[in-house]
Amino acid sequence: MTISPLIIANWKMHLTLKEAMAYAAKIEKILELQKSNKQLIIAPPSPFIASLGERFPKLQLCAQDLSIFDEDGPYTGEISAKILASCGAKYSLIGHSERREYFDETNVTIGKKVQNAIKHNITPIICIGESLECRQAGGFKDLLSYQIISSVPTNPIPKELIIAYEPLWSIGTGLVPSLDQIAEVFELILGHPHLKRLAKACRLVYGGSVNSKNYQNLLSIKDIGGLLIGSASLKEEEITKILN
Ligand code: PEP
Repeated sequence: MTISPLIIANWKMHLTLKEAMAYAAKIEKILELQKSNKQLIIAPPSPFIASLGERFPKLQLCAQDLSIFDEDGPYTGEISAKILASCGAKYSLIGHSERREYFDETNVTIGKKVQNAIKHNITPIICIGESLECRQAGGFKDLLSYQIISSVPTNPIPKELIIAYEPLWSIGTGLVPSLDQIAEVFELILGHPHLKRLAKACRLVYGGSVNSKNYQNLLSIKDIGGLLIGSASLKEEEITKILN
């Protein structure tokens, strides 16, 4: 059985509600017109999730983050996994490098968020990746291992889990690692002792400067389960080609 590659569109902090609804309508048309073998997941800004889900029930929706707090409570500004699930989120990005950088998210925080997601039947998309300095200094495998050990729960085993390898030096820069470099990291992840019992539940995706010119090549990497796409996912022409 061939599994359709996931295309995860990270809209980040872009679009108004009106623009998001109009763009989603276009995407829905693209999906209807094309016999795409890919599965699209959209990660819009959280306030849009409920409206998008009601108006476009066929779209699969993903949060871009969720709260470290799980119980209802006085946490002004936070959005829990339970609230996101009630709005229709089926997935959530967790530990995106922009959250790690601008909001000081640690691996411990990320591990807790992953547990919250699983508790509310949200599939976590755990983002890991190294900086260019770290890669050049040669310690990137240790760093990736540490990110995995501290954020991927093994008890109980989640039904489904996605790990997104997103090197920081590739996000939004136009730089893409070689296929061998990505394959090397996938091998490290899948062979990691921490993930042994999880192998069946775990899917790997790559993210960082994916566009309509390089996506096919990237999808040829062994064990790749999909792509996480930022800026190109907001361009109708790009996403049309990628879904085709
Ligand atoms: C991202 O932010 O997850 C990402 C992959 O961005 P971009 O495609 O713009 O590099």
